[in-house]
Amino acid sequence: MKTFYLRTLGLRMLALVVATAPVLPAAESLAPTKAARPWVSDRLSVCVYCGASDLAPPKYAEYARQLGKALAARRWTLVWGGSKTGLMGAVARGAKEAGGRVEGVLPEFIRQWEVAYEAADEMIVVATMHDRKMMLQARSDATVILPGGIGTLDEIGDVLDLRSLNQNRKPIILLNQDGFYDSLLAFLDYTVAEKFTKNESRQHLLVAKSVEEIVGLLEKVERVPGTVSR
Ligand code: AMP
Repeated sequence: MKTFYLRTLGLRMLALVVATAPVLPAAESLAPTKAARPWVSDRLSVCVYCGASDLAPPKYAEYARQLGKALAARRWTLVWGGSKTGLMGAVARGAKEAGGRVEGVLPEFIRQWEVAYEAADEMIVVATMHDRKMMLQARSDATVILPGGIGTLDEIGDVLDLRSLNQNRKPIILLNQDGFYDSLLAFLDYTVAEKFTKNESRQHLLVAKSVEEIVGLLEKVERVPGTVSR
C-alpha cells in the first residue's frame, strides 16, 4: 500500500491522495510523538542525498547501492528523494534488494518526469524542493551525502546551515569517495580561515571514506538515544 501526501503551498496540510498499501511496519516501541507524526518509528531513519545523473562513472552508483544494502542489513530505513535515476535509484535498489524499507519524498514537478522509484514502500509528493528538504529532514535521524551535482550541493548547504543554526542536532556524514569532495572541503576550510564560517559549524560535517565508516558513525547515533530530535 502506498501513501501519498500532498503538501500544499505553505499551508502544511497533508492530504491523503492514495491509500492502497500497508502503512508503516508495526513498531515494537514507538516514540511518544508517534500519534502526532505517524512516520516516527523506533528504527533509525537515514536521509541520503546524492546525485540523480545516470551519466556519472558507475563506481559511484555501485557505492550507493552498497550503502543501501548496508542500511537495510541493519533494518534502518532509507529516506531519500524518491528518484529512480543515478545514485538515487542505486541506493534505493540496494536497500530493497536487501529487504529494507525505503521512503521517498518527491516534488510534484519531478514526479511528472516519471522518474519516481516505483518500488518505494512509501512515496510522498510535495509541492516544492524546499518542502522536500524539510520533509526529508523531519523524517530522518541523520543525513548521509554521497557524490552529486548542483542539487546535492544545495542539499549539503541546506543541511549544514540548519545544523549550524541549531535547527536540528542530527549528524551529517559526507562520503568523500576517492576524494570527490576534496575541493569542497578545502573551500569550507577556507571560509573558516577567512572567518565567514565558525570552526564549530565546519566540524558538523563528518567525513567518511567508505560505507563501513558511514555505518560506524550511524551506529553511534543509534546507540545514543536523545542525540537526535525529530
Ligand atoms: P544532482 O546532485 O544535481 O544530481 O541533484 C540531485 C537532486 O536534484 C535531487 O534532489 C534530485 O531529486 C534532483 N534532481 C535533479 N535532476 C534530477 C533528475 N533528472 N531526476 C530526478 N531528480 C533530479
